[in-house]
Amino acid sequence: MKAHCLCRSVRLETGEHHTADACHCSMCRRWSGGPLLAVPCGSDVRIEGAEHITAYRSSDWAERAFCSKCGSHLYYRYLPTGEHFVPAGLFEDDSGLTFTMQIFVDNKPAYYDFANDTEKLTEAQVLAQFGAE
Ligand SMILES: [Zn+2]
Ligand SMILES: [Zn+2]
Repeated sequence: MKAHCLCRSVRLETGEHHTADACHCSMCRRWSGGPLLAVPCGSDVRIEGAEHITAYRSSDWAERAFCSKCGSHLYYRYLPTGEHFVPAGLFEDDSGLTFTMQIFVDNKPAYYDFANDTEKLTEAQVLAQFGAE
């Protein structure tokens, strides 16, 4: 699967992934301006144009990267596993994606609500299942 930022300086390529998840936590919403819709891509992400990437260490366990030229958000990387979560909007073909899970649902503000029927995990459930955000 291929993805790129708005100015095309950074291109990402990863294997076939079919799910998209939404995170409603306050950090993702501050970073994205809304819930973060992202595709879990594991660690098999190949990057072209890495010299245009700025990575911000948002916590002890994660960094969030963006294109230094156009500002597009490129990935959230969970450092203990090297797993990348790539914003769904970057992909050139999103027709194979299914919206399957929402996390930090108890952090979601009241002004929006997705109609999709997805699995939903609260902050406590996420921490129990995956460790830290
Ligand atoms: Zn760019
Ligand atoms: Zn989040």
